[in-house]
Amino acid sequence: MPRGGEAGGGGSRPGTVVVANGDEGDPGSYADRLLMEADPGRVLEGLALACFACGARRGVVLVRSEYPAALARMREAVRRAYADGHLGPSVHGTATSLDLHVVQGAGSYVAGEETALIAGLEGGRGCARPRPPYPTEHGLWDAPTVVNNVETLAAVPWIVRYGGRAYARRGTSGETGTKLVCLSERFARPGCYEVELGTPVRRIVTELGGGLKDGAGLTALQVGGPLGGFLAADALDVPLSEAGLSARGAALGHAGLVAFDGRVAPEDVLRHVWEFAAAESCGACSPCRVGSRRGLEWASSGAPPDQAWERLSRVLTGASLCAFGRRIPPAVHSLARAYGDRLSGWVP
Ligand code: SF4
Repeated sequence: MPRGGEAGGGGSRPGTVVVANGDEGDPGSYADRLLMEADPGRVLEGLALACFACGARRGVVLVRSEYPAALARMREAVRRAYADGHLGPSVHGTATSLDLHVVQGAGSYVAGEETALIAGLEGGRGCARPRPPYPTEHGLWDAPTVVNNVETLAAVPWIVRYGGRAYARRGTSGETGTKLVCLSERFARPGCYEVELGTPVRRIVTELGGGLKDGAGLTALQVGGPLGGFLAADALDVPLSEAGLSARGAALGHAGLVAFDGRVAPEDVLRHVWEFAAAESCGACSPCRVGSRRGLEWASSGAPPDQAWERLSRVLTGASLCAFGRRIPPAVHSLARAYGDRLSGWVP
């Protein structure tokens, strides 16, 4: 916890708020939940340091509504921090004031997108809005607002203690640091692992995950949630990084890995992706609202959409209001590539 003097770095604007985003609505990762449940003090310390860095006197932790234990632990951690003098109008008797509070999320996937999250915190419907203006200019209650993920903020205390250079020695030259990777229940050793960015995906699957349970063979690997992307079983020699995965048509996202074996039909995986897209589209823009339902109709009918899918891909990528809609085509394309002939009508 910073001590002494006014909170804040130079150039900060009055009313600045920092939000710890613990919404974690994307299936396939539970890293934020583990952090909030197991080490809420670290999350709060990271949030307090972020407030200090940008001159904010207010911070908010938004906890997903489906995480009651995390919500209770974060609330208790905040209560203790006030009682111990780490928070309040005069932190440890200094001129620094800092107020943090915990808010329960209102559900839905897109409510984790920063503009939708801010709308939800203001009591509105959790829908994304066009940017600019960016939240750092006009955010919560029109104040400059910084939104960071819980995992990001939880890394800050270590970085402050050991220095940015020490942290940057981990990972790759372009993407430094570490990532929490959650492995799904089909792995022999499911769980949450911290790895350096750039760690080969094959190593995570085989050495950390121990391959699949019961010696099953991997057929496809979902990376970073349903809209992150998919890798074929013979395409795992790729670094776990944004650059490495985007070169394969996937995205790092939250980096959770979900394994599929031969017992799951590719057509079912495809339909699940479209069901997810249609269910979680907030409906604020028509390309995503209409396109996700059209895609689900195609996937449910079993008939490859061909030309019509190509056109819809372009519309979704070019005209969706937020990354949710823009990520649908690359995710479907990567799934189709991972399964080859079985989903050939969906390959661009
Ligand atoms: S792309 Fe989808 S989730 Fe994003 S604003 Fe449009 S309808 Fe909502």
